[in-house]
Amino acid sequence: MNTEARACDLCSLPVVPPGFLLQTTSGLKVFCCEGCQGIYGMLHESEVLTDDAAGRSEAADLPHSGK
Ligand SMILES: [Zn+2]
Repeated sequence: MNTEARACDLCSLPVVPPGFLLQTTSGLKVFCCEGCQGIYGMLHESEVLTDDAAGRSEAADLPHSGK
């Protein structure tokens, strides 16, 4: 059997598959809960690779957005 249990990349608690995943520049991170995933995302904001970058308009206040 190859049921390798992963530890949460934030709090190190065992993760119940499939867990909460976050793709970052340093690899795929796994978290035990949505809270850990969110906190890691805030702490390592520059490393997080979002596949839905278009949905985040907060950080992108472009002067030529054509309002
Ligand atoms: Zn955790």
